[in-house]
Amino acid sequence: MAEKKFFLTTPIFYPNANLHLGHAYTTVLSDIVVRYHRLQKERVYFLTGADENTQKIVIAAREAGKPPQKFLDARVEGFKKLFADLNISYNQFIRTSDKEVHWPGAQKLWQKLAEAGDIYKKEYEGLYCVGHEAFLTSKELINGKCPEHGTSPERIKEENYFFRLSKYTSEIKKRIEFGELRVIPETRKNEILSLLEEGLQDVSFSRPKTASSIGIPVPDDDSQVMYVWCDALSNYITALGYGRDEKLFAEFWPADVHVIGKDILRFHAAIWPGMLLSAGLPLPKTLFVHGFITSGGKKMSKTLGNVIDPTELLQEYGTDAVRYYLARHVSPFEDGDITHEGFKSIYNGDLANGLGNLASRVMTLAQTHLPGPVKVEFVPYPKEFTDALEKFEVNRATDYVWGRIGELDKKITETEPFKLIKTDPEKGKSLISDLVRELAAVDLLLEPILPGTSKKIIEAIIANKKPENLFPRKE
Ligand SMILES: [Zn+2]
Repeated sequence: MAEKKFFLTTPIFYPNANLHLGHAYTTVLSDIVVRYHRLQKERVYFLTGADENTQKIVIAAREAGKPPQKFLDARVEGFKKLFADLNISYNQFIRTSDKEVHWPGAQKLWQKLAEAGDIYKKEYEGLYCVGHEAFLTSKELINGKCPEHGTSPERIKEENYFFRLSKYTSEIKKRIEFGELRVIPETRKNEILSLLEEGLQDVSFSRPKTASSIGIPVPDDDSQVMYVWCDALSNYITALGYGRDEKLFAEFWPADVHVIGKDILRFHAAIWPGMLLSAGLPLPKTLFVHGFITSGGKKMSKTLGNVIDPTELLQEYGTDAVRYYLARHVSPFEDGDITHEGFKSIYNGDLANGLGNLASRVMTLAQTHLPGPVKVEFVPYPKEFTDALEKFEVNRATDYVWGRIGELDKKITETEPFKLIKTDPEKGKSLISDLVRELAAVDLLLEPILPGTSKKIIEAIIANKKPENLFPRKE
């Protein structure tokens, strides 16, 4: 086991609502990075899953008139279907309602925090936003309402267990400053450092157990269940068998990267490292924080009627068209924008007229004029491409590939192989063979980004025939 290992996680998603394009983005970006590392012959583990022990689920299940577990199972099937349609190559889908896989490790971690003296009981009064699954401070509210959910938080007074997060402020700050825990991009690193500058508060880590509550029982206290974030964050190690069978844990922890959205930075860059430090476990190496996807410059919302459903896009355009848009036309660092018109125009321009047309032109020439398949060889990835992917900049990596597609198109226009083959058949054949080899080199770069299309093109090259219409034009 000398080769490098690479462990990447996505957040685990709430099954109380459908997955939206933002979730699709997180997961596609992760999948491209993971596939790249697999192609580099690293030992890779790719984790995703569902965050199920939350009060939101109880409410959503009640509204749907279903028992919580039935409701969850159906929702999770929907997630898995979407991930299959996006061609997401995860190794494990963890569900935090899984009592065998997840609960033993979550409880072991709790015990470690308790043994370190970092868990204590205290009466607590605060403003609880169910949408956030978190207490908010009055200064975070706008007109008494949660700015993100538009609802008034409940005032709750209860006795809870607290985690002594304040104790770890300076250690976490140091690790982030010195890059032992890298936070990418720089803007997010500065954001979390200024939060750490103010000092971290201890966090409520449990809720009293009620008749309707779902959640992991606090070890040695049946009257309390773990706070959902405490339970959810631990999925990154319980999935690897922490507290159960620790073979994978020994092999893959610490995570090489947690891919997260900007809204959950605080949990991953403060609470999670605090928990790991308390338990004496290594911290993840990198937090990669991406922005949100807006539509027409506005946050997608039902009221505005600008929600773009990934399922609809997949039905209309197919897996690789959606992967392509998310990979190249959404910046990993800023908020990205998408509209139906924009999507269609990019599809026609870059895929139908771009890649699809190129593959068809080259392979039509090859099929017509060459006696048999061109032998293609593996070409190592150029530095520009690997650099971008090592830094999770899938948009820059995809730009590079489309640059190569443009060059190849230009070469065909300039060298006119369809004319040359008539005037000088030998030279013509040799030129067409070169074009096929260059198409194969481009195709290799496509493999992590558009795996389905890449496979179709290489199959066409091997069979020396024109591929099916990869991206039919949309009018
Ligand atoms: Zn809220």
